[in-house]
Amino acid sequence: AAKADGRGTHRFYHEDMLEGARHRKALEDDLRGALARGEFHVVYQPVVATRDASVVGFEALVRWEHPIRGAVSPGEFIPIAEESGLIESIGEWVLRTAAADAAGWPGDVRVAVNVSPIQFANSQLPTIVASALANSGLPAHRLELEITEGVFLNESASSDAMFSSLKRLGVRLALDDFGTGYSSLGYLRKAPFDKIKIDQSFVRGAAVTGNRNAAIIQAIVTLATTLGMETTAEGVEIQDEIGLIAGLGCSHIQGYVYGRPMPAEAAAEMAAEGKASPSGVRVSRAPRL
Ligand code: C2E
Ligand code: MG
Ligand code: MG
Ligand code: MG
Repeated sequence: AAKADGRGTHRFYHEDMLEGARHRKALEDDLRGALARGEFHVVYQPVVATRDASVVGFEALVRWEHPIRGAVSPGEFIPIAEESGLIESIGEWVLRTAAADAAGWPGDVRVAVNVSPIQFANSQLPTIVASALANSGLPAHRLELEITEGVFLNESASSDAMFSSLKRLGVRLALDDFGTGYSSLGYLRKAPFDKIKIDQSFVRGAAVTGNRNAAIIQAIVTLATTLGMETTAEGVEIQDEIGLIAGLGCSHIQGYVYGRPMPAEAAAEMAAEGKASPSGVRVSRAPRL
């Protein structure tokens, strides 16, 4: 049957691709006016110190509420925003919104904002960041910019200059999703990161005996610590994983176990409380969805 279906399969595959392209185009068209129509909002996920469960900051994550489709995940629309160039304006809006929200949080609680490689390649980025800080009154050291290794793909003198300009502003830099992609150690030598965020794919199952992920996390933490960088384990969902992550020397934890991304008001309350407590599943062999 497989052979007989060969042509049909090919035809359906082609139609799927056309359908996919149409869907993408439709989303892109809708994305174009979404900012002006107020369809975006920002939610905040707590980042917790492994040592004492204090809330040290929040990661700002953009949400798009499509008038017809409902919530569209950033995993789906960010790539479209990047290809169409719309990420420049969306990213700037997220930055300004997050800085304004975080300015009202107590103490030294930080906010982390994702910066797309497209934004990073724009020489205006330091000016935009400086303006967001000035308008919000947020001190530079309380802003962390999360960058993926995508910024190194067209490695050039200008990316070195960009790192220096951003550091000169006094903001913090984090390398996001570390361990996925190429993860060249050369990136760590060259760029002035304050933190490495260990991708959730390594945290998944790290508590299961014999899992290699724990060894990989341990190696990344040793490297980062030696280089004077903090480490955040991303995607920690299960209470048992907290002890394991702590044992591996990770300085920070971010994941559903300490809180899902939440509206600004809830984040402000949690920031004021100052401590996080774990919730949810306790066993390491819980089924994962
Ligand atoms: P990211 O920067 O690595 O953000 C972490 C993602 O992991 C978020 O997904 C968060 O909700 C999810 N997450 C956190 N803890 C857990 C957990 O315990 N379990 C599971 N299963 N997931 C967890 P989200 O919000 O869907 O964002 C996905 C990606 O979209 C982000 O990955 C980031 O690359 C991108 N993104 C989100 N907001 C922005 C933005 O404002 N600008 C840019 N350029 N990219 C953004
Ligand atoms: Mg991130
Ligand atoms: Mg990440
Ligand atoms: Mg990610």
